[in-house]
Amino acid sequence: MPDADHNPDAPVLLAGDAMRVADDGNPRLVGIVCGNCGARAFPPAPVCSECMSEDVRELELSPEGSLYAFSVVHVAPAEWDTPYIAGYVDLPEGVRVFAHITGADAGALEMDSPVRLTTARLGTAGDGAAVESYAFRPANSGMENA
Ligand SMILES: [Zn+2]
Repeated sequence: MPDADHNPDAPVLLAGDAMRVADDGNPRLVGIVCGNCGARAFPPAPVCSECMSEDVRELELSPEGSLYAFSVVHVAPAEWDTPYIAGYVDLPEGVRVFAHITGADAGALEMDSPVRLTTARLGTAGDGAAVESYAFRPANSGMENA
């Protein structure tokens, strides 16, 4: 995952251009909206997947959505913490995001329940650095980071 020059004291961030920190200090996902057909998508891409137009611009996505589906993953690449919960979250912009679900056991999660964007440690790189990315947690859990 990390390159040879990575500082193991700094986390490895997987999100790239798909996440930024907003003015309020909280993470936001960045998708795209197509200037030709209006389609919205995540993660950002240089071409609209609906009409192939290159007339796309960034769209900052809502940090709150609803849990569409989820599953517990027990087998993953060696650097990932297992088990973890993978899920699809529907955002108000009409975008469905695939992400880790944190802050709750699978048995406590419910379909269509409100979830909120957060960041989470997802694993440990070969050099010992934390591997972090965006994730969603139950919106009413009161946990800022899980
Ligand atoms: Zn389009």
